[in-house]
Amino acid sequence: ERIELIGCCGQIIAHLKPVHDRQITIFTDEKEIWFDANLVKIKQLLVILLDNALKYSSDPIEILLSTDEKDVHIRVKDYGIGIPEGEVKRVFERFYRVDSSRHRKTGGTGLGLPIAKAITDVHQGTIRIDSVEGEGTEVIVTLPRRQQEGLSPR
Ligand code: ATP
Repeated sequence: ERIELIGCCGQIIAHLKPVHDRQITIFTDEKEIWFDANLVKIKQLLVILLDNALKYSSDPIEILLSTDEKDVHIRVKDYGIGIPEGEVKRVFERFYRVDSSRHRKTGGTGLGLPIAKAITDVHQGTIRIDSVEGEGTEVIVTLPRRQQEGLSPR
């Protein structure tokens, strides 16, 4: 299906607002960003990334949306606790949680990022994390604007 990303992010933010009352801001130069995707899965992906940013940071959270000829780029950026350098690659493993997170009252199962990875995979996209411990985290998702015939992410 064709979905519109900016509106989709806006809906998720509106949903989270009464629960968390935190500042989540969308930055984009586009008016609308249409691409081929499964709406339910993309919403789930956004919820996972925002939920992590909410849990592991306290300052504003930013969603940066951009496009190029082939892809859409979603970046979820926070200024929170960050992830230690050696552990960034492990957070996509099921049930893996960085030690400092295990003791937080805001619990988690360690399944969020593996699911986020699975969702980007079915969309033929990529996900990576740029993080500095003590400074913050940026999750960068790239998804193709057009899905190849016969491989639509239902
Ligand atoms: P849940 O399954 O409820 O999302 P979780 O947050 O523990 O639980 P993941 O989303 O898979 O699980 O994240 C794995 C680990 O990566 C987290 O426990 C945390 O240590 C680290 N992490 C993820 N996102 C961030 C972030 N934005 N800032 C700092 N650490 C993060």
